[in-house]
Amino acid sequence: MRHADVIIAGGGVIGLFCGWMLARSGVRALVVDSGGPAATNAAAGMLAPSFERSLHGGGDALAAFSAQSLQRWKEIAPLLRESGGVDIDFDDSGVLCVAMDDTEAAIFQADADKCDPLDRAQVLDLEPALSSSARCGWMARGNGQVDPRRVRLALRRAIGAAGGAVRLGRRVNSIESGKAHAVVLENGERLHAEQIVIATGARLGGLGDLPADATFPIKGEALAVARSGAAPTRVVITGKAYLCPKADGRVVVGATEIAGDRSLNVDERRLRDLRAAAEAAFPALDGAEEIERWAGLRPATKDGAPIIGPAPSSPGVLYALGHYRNGILLAPATADAIVALVATGRAGSDIAAFSPARFNELGVS
Ligand SMILES: Cc1cc2nc3c(=O)[nH]c(=O)nc-3n(C[C@H](O)[C@H](O)[C@H](O)COP(=O)(O)OP(=O)(O)OC[C@H]3O[C@@H](n4cnc5c(N)ncnc54)[C@H](O)[C@@H]3O)c2cc1C
Repeated sequence: MRHADVIIAGGGVIGLFCGWMLARSGVRALVVDSGGPAATNAAAGMLAPSFERSLHGGGDALAAFSAQSLQRWKEIAPLLRESGGVDIDFDDSGVLCVAMDDTEAAIFQADADKCDPLDRAQVLDLEPALSSSARCGWMARGNGQVDPRRVRLALRRAIGAAGGAVRLGRRVNSIESGKAHAVVLENGERLHAEQIVIATGARLGGLGDLPADATFPIKGEALAVARSGAAPTRVVITGKAYLCPKADGRVVVGATEIAGDRSLNVDERRLRDLRAAAEAAFPALDGAEEIERWAGLRPATKDGAPIIGPAPSSPGVLYALGHYRNGILLAPATADAIVALVATGRAGSDIAAFSPARFNELGVS
């Protein structure tokens, strides 16, 4: 692509979704990705906003944006599967939250108004392989999951099919904003565009005008075991672990939350604890072959909200990062917002709370 209307720095789920939606709207979009580690490849892929609030907080604006994005996933998943030519393992058959003891029951109860409460017999009816010591549960209808690695592959292909482009293995070193906008790659190449979107996940890397720590990594470790006969049939969340059965035969078990560790090493003891929690919920997983273990860096922000909108003092530059625990879920709504911003220059009220300006005005950082 000789000249792009919009260049997106970062090709995780956020940058790619923005690139695809922009290309579909007729914008010449180019995604440039360094090929470095991506949180997207580490994600379990849950589309499960219903239990985020009681367990992990987040304000009303984020809850509404999450619900909006879940709805967009339902509309757009078939199109992405078709355009990308990849089965993205989309499933919206519901997420089951299971309390294994009274403490967990009290925590999950906070979201009970949005979900269907189930007694032990009903929970076991839905998931017969669940331990009979499960206490009770809640079903979040319409929540679900995708396979994030497949989504990433599908998006890369769908961008090309929609007239956009993806350049892999190229790091954006700096951004020039002013009369003309350009990104400068690490090999010195300068690419011009009308607008630039920074979607680099947990690393701002000096790009744009936000404080360096506006987004910062919170590490998460997870593992995948082979699905045996008596495994969960849908996403199951307990207080100590979640289990996501994937179409390829894996059960992804996650995840830890480690602040202040930017490494991608995995800790043996923490993974053992995760696995023990999964086996306590589904005893038949005891002895299941471990297929993979990994760590990824969630792009966190201090107030828990993503950063979506125009750069405070760099014309032509937009941000789309800081999606922390829910970037897969929030990708479609984020891309909608970026498409609207590129077209009109104005941010909708749904993303007012995510404005990059809050870091300067309110000193969030
Ligand atoms: C263990 C774990 C489990 C998770 N589970 C879920 C889940 O179930 N559901 C959910 O919704 N979310 C989940 N998440 C969170 C989710 O993974 C993230 O919120 C999301 O992937 C962020 O996407 P992103 O595109 O912003 O960042 P990333 O996926 O990190 O992508 C950023 C990309 O930009 C590239 N890059 C960085 N700097 C530059 C540069 N200067 N130039 C060019 N490219 C650059 C990087 O190499 C990378 O490819 C999980 C995260 C972890 C770690």
